[in-house]
Amino acid sequence: MARPHFPESVYRLKPDESYCFACHPEVACFTECCRMLELALTPYDILRLRRGTGLSSQQLHDQYIIEERGEQDMFPKFYLTMVDDGRASCVFVGKDGCKIYTHRPGACRAYPLGRAAVRTRSGELKQHFVLLKENHCKGFDEPQEQTPQIYSKDQGLTEYNAYNDALAGLIQHDQIRQGKFMPNKEQLALYTLALHNLDVFREKLVSGELNVTSYPEEIVLDDEKLLLYAIDWLKIIFFPED
Ligand code: SF4
Ligand code: SF4
Repeated sequence: MARPHFPESVYRLKPDESYCFACHPEVACFTECCRMLELALTPYDILRLRRGTGLSSQQLHDQYIIEERGEQDMFPKFYLTMVDDGRASCVFVGKDGCKIYTHRPGACRAYPLGRAAVRTRSGELKQHFVLLKENHCKGFDEPQEQTPQIYSKDQGLTEYNAYNDALAGLIQHDQIRQGKFMPNKEQLALYTLALHNLDVFREKLVSGELNVTSYPEEIVLDDEKLLLYAIDWLKIIFFPED
């Protein structure tokens, strides 16, 4: 049931609340949701896009990613480029669907579900789900029963959520929530480097350019471990008194 403070097409859901939905190549709207969209990318999305495309993080940024920081934004945001084909299609959509399906971003996996993870004052992470019912999406006519928990697991969101939740420890840090921190130009550059340009971050770490005297050896060969290290490294730089 829609709650009064959400727009008409957005429904708040409990993790085990059921709804009918399925998406597959036979739906009349197949790939419609891959057009006319703002696709925000998380650091883990970019890590997986590198894997899916075989491009370096720098090449990805140069070819497919737009960086923006609005006046109200503490940190820059990163979006996937859309093609100028009159339908603003995603760069990765083809007639048979997503060309990087195995490594598609978390938002593509989740749609039409939305998840927000919020840290409480006690440090506990609480997740909230919403369902976005848009007219073009015919998946709601399918009989398959879902819940946010089942759908998230089926769509491979568990690991995406885990890395995004790790990031929440940085971007929802108490000092940020209390308005006591504002990144300077150099810190913003480090944020982009460490989280969104992992290959160059690794190069600079190994070459000593970042003045890090020691780090766990395994992060050099393991992208996921490197990303978690980068999040912790930024926490130390931003909040040294922790
Ligand atoms: S990345 Fe794939 S699933 Fe996501 S919008 Fe693009 S084509 Fe669609
Ligand atoms: S609009 Fe809905 S049903 Fe159609 S392809 Fe996208 S998610 Fe699937």
